Amino acid sequence: MSLSPTPTAEAVRDWVGGKYYDRGKALAEDGAVNDGRTYEVPGGTRICARVTGTYAPFYRVAATAADGRVTAAACTCPVGGGTAEWAEGRCKHVAALLLTWRKRPDAFDQGENPRTDLARRSKEELAEMVLALLNRAAETDEEAWERDPEEYDADAADWHVAPDPAPPAA
Ligand SMILES: [Zn+2]
Repeated sequence: MSLSPTPTAEAVRDWVGGKYYDRGKALAEDGAVNDGRTYEVPGGTRICARVTGTYAPFYRVAATAADGRVTAAACTCPVGGGTAEWAEGRCKHVAALLLTWRKRPDAFDQGENPRTDLARRSKEELAEMVLALLNRAAETDEEAWERDPEEYDADAADWHVAPDPAPPAA
């Protein structure tokens, strides 16, 4: 018999602490959690969403839940650990994410683990996806340069990724 994966409110409070629990609850009530989705991972259910941010338009937030507990979390905000691999995700956004999932599980799309999806794709498909990502990064670089040429760091940029003039392979 498996218990419900949904963490209790107490489990969420234990994970982020009382201060961030209260702030996260307010965020959740404000509808700050959007584009939620869930999928199964080894050892639990992964819950992801974007949450309206203070220093950025939104943060990307994820948590893993199993048997009514929180087992892992990460958030791209400064408190949540940013994009560091060691991110602990003990911030108000993680609280908002989990409390919203408790209250409105139907608002979260159920999907497939992206790793499973990627593992099934051919080398050619993966190459196309990576090229598309690099081109998108290059476009972002162009925007950064237009915004502030003085601050633009050409060494860190992906501007050398040229658009591919060849039509996509049939
Ligand atoms: Zn956060």
